[in-house]
Amino acid sequence: MIRVTLPDGNVREYEKGTTAMQVALSISEGLARNVLASKVNFTQSEDSGFEIWDANRPIDEDVRLSLLTWNDAEGKATFWHSSAHLMAEALEVLYPGTKFGIGPAIEKGFYYDIDLGGAEFSSDHFKTIEDKMIELARNKEDFKRESISKDKAVQYFQEKGDEYKLDLLENLKDGEITFYSQGNFTDLCRGPHIPNTGFIKAIKLLNVAGAYWRGDEKNKQLTRIYAVTFPKQSELTEYLHLLEEAKKRDHRKLGKELELFTFSEKVGAGLPLWLPKGAALRDKLENFMKKAQIQAGYEPVVTPHIGSKELYITSGHYEKYGADSFQPIKTPQEGEEFFLKPMNCPHHCEIYKFKPRSYKDLPIRYAEFGTVYRYEQSGELHGLTRVRGFTQDDAHLFCRPDQVKEEFLKVIDLVLYVFRALDFKEFTAQVSLRDPENTTKYIGTDENWEKAERAIIESAEEKGLKTIVVKGEAAFYGPKLDFMVRDALGRKWQLGTIQVDYNLPERFELEYTGSDNQKHRPVMIHRAPFGSLERFIAVLIEHCAGNFPLWLTPDQVIILPISEKYADYAKKVLESLNISDIRGLIDNRDEKIGKKIRDAEIKKIPFMLIIGEKEETDGMISVRKHGEGDVGTETIADFVNRIQKEMVIIN
Ligand SMILES: [Zn+2]
Ligand SMILES: [Zn+2]
Repeated sequence: MIRVTLPDGNVREYEKGTTAMQVALSISEGLARNVLASKVNFTQSEDSGFEIWDANRPIDEDVRLSLLTWNDAEGKATFWHSSAHLMAEALEVLYPGTKFGIGPAIEKGFYYDIDLGGAEFSSDHFKTIEDKMIELARNKEDFKRESISKDKAVQYFQEKGDEYKLDLLENLKDGEITFYSQGNFTDLCRGPHIPNTGFIKAIKLLNVAGAYWRGDEKNKQLTRIYAVTFPKQSELTEYLHLLEEAKKRDHRKLGKELELFTFSEKVGAGLPLWLPKGAALRDKLENFMKKAQIQAGYEPVVTPHIGSKELYITSGHYEKYGADSFQPIKTPQEGEEFFLKPMNCPHHCEIYKFKPRSYKDLPIRYAEFGTVYRYEQSGELHGLTRVRGFTQDDAHLFCRPDQVKEEFLKVIDLVLYVFRALDFKEFTAQVSLRDPENTTKYIGTDENWEKAERAIIESAEEKGLKTIVVKGEAAFYGPKLDFMVRDALGRKWQLGTIQVDYNLPERFELEYTGSDNQKHRPVMIHRAPFGSLERFIAVLIEHCAGNFPLWLTPDQVIILPISEKYADYAKKVLESLNISDIRGLIDNRDEKIGKKIRDAEIKKIPFMLIIGEKEETDGMISVRKHGEGDVGTETIADFVNRIQKEMVIIN
């Protein structure tokens, strides 16, 4: 008999060789219908040693067991990876001779890289493949796992003529090779897989792209087919709806329509150009943050866009990233070498060193909207989310070890203030700690690490954050706290980071004189609530679909005169709005009022003020609200009053 410990602590005894599916069946048939895979742990450790297994794989030892369903991330991943096998099976039927690269699950769905031997392929073929997949899924073919010797595996793929699988096999050792088969399709795979193809009820092929074998452009380009599957048709329908909505909110599309930013091939890939309206938006975000930072005791500093190679040798960035960065700029005469700055921290360390510091001076908080440059491959660039030049709302806090917690609490406050002001209601925090079993790979004393880790966990708790703690995810130089927000479509984005650093103070030999008159090292905290302004604005655009909070929106009002007869009154209205700090513009085009309203709606300007003869005579304005329509006639003073109240950042 074996002892099976379930997540609730319940221990049950089963025959040796029992499967997770049989355990599920012994609990309830309803549960068994939903079990996709299992999480097994044969070790004593509660935190590590887990493996994901097929639900039908026999268990021969005492085990801690969790049953995985669609509601678990690992359950979904197993489902999607199994769907990749199903797609491969369909492709093999429809396109005999297809060779297969890799077919992993991804965040939402899966892909398979295939070599069609030069056959034409486009999205026109998707429907045929989907239909074939559905047909095969209905056969409820079992996924069968088989251990196989390397010789036999090589022989199989030699006979099949699949050089990609042979390439993958080269790196595998005898004794660790498994095949998975369903129906007539067999794949080299370490698994795990769902019990049978019948679980896959809804299928959608999404996209086809080129992908180099092993990501290396020297290799052959394969065809990558992206797809997604679900256990219920209704989930697919819901997903496709979200996809449509995401397309409408795509920040690249809205950025163009709202005239926020653009890219120019002449200027260079990945280097955004901010148009006046986008610059106005950035300005407001910057000012909002600067004001909050001044109140929180930060001091603004300014540093140049380049720094000498020596600076980055000292910081360690040169050794680590030098070869993968923009290459140095050289002076024509002196042979000096400079790097475009990839981060602001080394510059700020040198500012700290400007004069001797005492324990009474700490904490010191230097803030800078610092523009940094990082090399990204051209194929990786994407709108504002992956760029080569961006501005961080960066700050570095230099404090004593006993001040880490207090500083953390304050930074969390600031991050939460930002989220509230920008209407991000759902977020989680991840605390990344050292790997307790491998403390030697981290720099800094055990005492300081323990202190800082405790400070981060306690701060997150005190602020009531929804937190997950992950051991082993800390950087070698310190623990950190990352914030993930969920946008209006439920997508997760990583935004602000707060990071403790014992490394740079060491490398830059930063010091302060303690109350004991001895020299001590300060602790450094890096933090950026927005992260990068570019990326943050991209996320914000997609979150609010371009309908920014009123205080942030570039044009709050557009004045629409019914004819040019009212141009003077329009100007008068705009002037009185400007005096009250409300920004807007006049649509003086010789167009029908209906057209002017439609265009203003597309531009997502929150308020349209329509003026004609009656309004001018009475000294009034007719107000329309974006997305709502007519809200009535009022005096300019009443309107100003009302929207000033709406413009308050946080009530
Ligand atoms: Zn597989
Ligand atoms: Zn930094």
